[in-house]
Amino acid sequence: MDCLFCKIIAGEIPGDIVYEDDKVLAFNDINPVAPYHILVVPKKHYESILDVNAEDMDIIAHIHKVINIIANEKAQNGFRIINNCGADGGQEVKHIHFHVLAGKKLPMYEKDAK
Ligand code: AMP
Ligand code: ZN
Repeated sequence: MDCLFCKIIAGEIPGDIVYEDDKVLAFNDINPVAPYHILVVPKKHYESILDVNAEDMDIIAHIHKVINIIANEKAQNGFRIINNCGADGGQEVKHIHFHVLAGKKLPMYEKDAK
């Protein structure tokens, strides 16, 4: 499959990895929009949350367990989790991923853009 994040998971493309276990990989975003910008991805390919069936939904809890660990270390002052889904959601890489942003007061966006 021609998927950028599957290639990073497989080690075919280098990733700046900050956490790894048997189910999840977390790495620094190549184009950070905050001092701390990591992407947390399941090793199994799902395009988006719409692709995760009920039996597999534990992976979403596991991803948040990983976010808990890394944010506890790096983002005690607060952070934001973003999961862009599909075209209208602005998803560019079609392998589900959770952005974790921290390290500055983050600007609001959608909330103010009526
Ligand atoms: P999204 O727009 O939610 O699909 O986010 C995709 C993210 O992947 C963007 O923030 C990109 O900067 C990031 N990205 C693209 N290529 C790479 C890469 N090779 N390594 C790390 N992050 C990447
Ligand atoms: Zn993939």
